[in-house]
Amino acid sequence: MKLEDILEEYSLAMFDRAIAELDDKECYVMLLNYVKKQLDKAPRVEGKKKLYYISAEFLIGKLLSNNLINLKIYHDVKEILEKNGKSLSAIEEVELEPSLGNGGLGRLAACFMDSITTLDLPADGVGLNYHLGLFLQKFEHNEQKEYPNPWLSDNSWLNKTDVTFEVPFKNVTLPSRLYEIEVSGYNGKVNTLKLFDLDTVDETIVESGIGFDKKDIEKNLTLFLYPDDSDDDGRKLRIYQQYFLVSSAAQMIIADLKAKNIDLRDLHKYVVIQINDTHPSMVIPELIRLLTAEGLDFEEAVAEVEKTTAYTNHTILAEALETWPIAYLEEIVPQLVPIIRKLDEIAKTRSQDEATFVIDNDGRVHMASMDIHFSQSTNGVAAIHTDILKNEELHSFYELYPNKFNNKTNGITFRRWLFEANPELTKFLDEHIGEGYKKDAVELQKLLQFKDDKKVLEQLLDIKAIKKRQLAKYLKEQQNVDIDEHSIYDIQIKRLHEYKRQQMNALYIIDEYLKIKNGFVPKRPITCIFGAKAAPAYILAKDIIHVILTLQQLIDSDPDVRKHLRVVMVENYNVTKAEKLIPAADISEQISLASKEASGTSNMKFMLNGAVTLGTDDGANVEIHDLVGLDNIFIFGAKADEVIDHYKNHDYCSRHFYENSERIRQAVDFITSDAMKAIGNPALLQAVHDDLINKDWFMTLLDFEAYVAEKQKIMDAYENRLDWAKKMLVNIAQAGYFSSDRTILQYNEDIWHLK
Ligand SMILES: *Cc1c(COP(=O)(O)O)cnc(C)c1O
Repeated sequence: MKLEDILEEYSLAMFDRAIAELDDKECYVMLLNYVKKQLDKAPRVEGKKKLYYISAEFLIGKLLSNNLINLKIYHDVKEILEKNGKSLSAIEEVELEPSLGNGGLGRLAACFMDSITTLDLPADGVGLNYHLGLFLQKFEHNEQKEYPNPWLSDNSWLNKTDVTFEVPFKNVTLPSRLYEIEVSGYNGKVNTLKLFDLDTVDETIVESGIGFDKKDIEKNLTLFLYPDDSDDDGRKLRIYQQYFLVSSAAQMIIADLKAKNIDLRDLHKYVVIQINDTHPSMVIPELIRLLTAEGLDFEEAVAEVEKTTAYTNHTILAEALETWPIAYLEEIVPQLVPIIRKLDEIAKTRSQDEATFVIDNDGRVHMASMDIHFSQSTNGVAAIHTDILKNEELHSFYELYPNKFNNKTNGITFRRWLFEANPELTKFLDEHIGEGYKKDAVELQKLLQFKDDKKVLEQLLDIKAIKKRQLAKYLKEQQNVDIDEHSIYDIQIKRLHEYKRQQMNALYIIDEYLKIKNGFVPKRPITCIFGAKAAPAYILAKDIIHVILTLQQLIDSDPDVRKHLRVVMVENYNVTKAEKLIPAADISEQISLASKEASGTSNMKFMLNGAVTLGTDDGANVEIHDLVGLDNIFIFGAKADEVIDHYKNHDYCSRHFYENSERIRQAVDFITSDAMKAIGNPALLQAVHDDLINKDWFMTLLDFEAYVAEKQKIMDAYENRLDWAKKMLVNIAQAGYFSSDRTILQYNEDIWHLK
């Protein structure tokens, strides 16, 4: 039967009407049901050994188009819908984006599940089913406000199962229920994302914004991702969440083995567990606990777990390396405490260096230390990041376990970030270099043969113009802003953090604003687009959002300036928005303080879509720089080793830069100018101003002038349109290395050994 007839049958069976008579919501539900049926029937990836990828986050994005692409029916469905007067993109608007992740680490887990499945590797993703997810961001009075982000509905990709486990806490044992989302690969096969939840969670306990009783564990356990941990109850709730996740995971893994009659002493031959950052680290003592309960000796269990687990480090920011007071663990999961104490003793027999202690002298458990001692592999996520781990942050561990350390430079799935987000560019590539790059992304290099072909370069510029027009239309619909589609789109989208230096971009905007006020207008209008959520308890990050929104309003209401310069902050930045923003970008802002961004992945998404990077030599920017060469990337600022030296020597003084540069002083002082204070909240503006002068922990002022100079260079380069198109082409052509298929093959080769 033809697909068209099948879909008509679904439509009739579900709604008693033909497709042409359905509204978008009904059409979505019809397609959801059809696709879910196909995923049910699809062959599962099978094999002797299985990966469990455990992560607090899976930032998976909407799934309809992704599944249509992987099932290879995207174009057919699109056509059938069009024949019936429907648009797939309007229907996609009906789908709610699952709110199961926060930023890069969660998006990485999602890209990995796609590639793992595509490469035929058997795996479960294992996480939690947060009901209200990460908060929904709204802007009110130029400030971020947080609201719950409900995404669960009757018609969703999530399947409830009858599988439950009992998770023992000190005062109560809670049943965890397994939910599943099928993950399709580009090979038509499926793996599963397993999400655990508690039946008694109650969304009605949430009051005023995202506040709720943090002690009512039975009702709040899986309400939110990363509940506010600025107080003790919040921190304890995170321990409850983490243990709920890892105990459910460990019990499921053991149940899987028992069902196959496998001796638990052979665990590592059948199972590998990748621990995504430290949130799931307690899986190590929990597995040891369960294995000893099944009859293994303690030493045997430790050795087996060490061979079975592997740890990925995502950050060198000290505040993000989790430590838990042992007293909290006593209070919540006392059964783990004797195990962790024994692990600490074993660790101390291996090294007396305090930097490697599992339990430090203040009685805090260092989750990363436990991971490194008691797993087989520790990897960083970009070459420079792994080098810094080896030589600086984790140097003592590296000396102890040189063979455990390895690099796995992050990647992104091209199915979502190229085929789905940019069908126009995909078609262009198909026509010029064939479809081989869809299986082997390095084949994108075939595009290099066209780098001096004027006609091809012009086609690339035309595609960018189309994507820019589409974004302008979308922003008009979403936020009622008008942007000039002929302006340069300069985009910085990522979590708001001082180290990512959105504040430096804001200072650039001020600098440009002052120039325009003085009659020096840019050759072409510039649209500076931001998207960023700030953690609800991260005050300075929220203040930086306030500065950007205040600038946005100031410039919007100034007819002299807005012709030349616009600021747009996109509300509630998420995967759906990223998919619209990235293909439209001319300039990709990757301006973190060198040494601080472990990898970045939006830099890869932008490159793949023909944006040119303006960035520091940090994270994967370094590898992009190597691949495209200095003609095709704009690099500025202090290098990682300089920055590391400044921290070691405590010799960076931002006030010095402020006092010695007229330009810096004018830009910084403008934050608290009368014009800004007339629109914004003076106290919040003052906080950003004062921090920049008195603290500036991430050295904004150190790099500011180099940034402005390099940005002028990239704007000038943009004016030579054909030469710019060549830069776009080289970036696209060299993006193949950043396919997450490559990353996953390396994980499998070096760590997992699944096939
Ligand atoms: C890719 C992605 C990120 C990571 O962005 P970075 O700039 O690498 O920090 C964060 N959020 C979303 C929605 C993404 O798609």
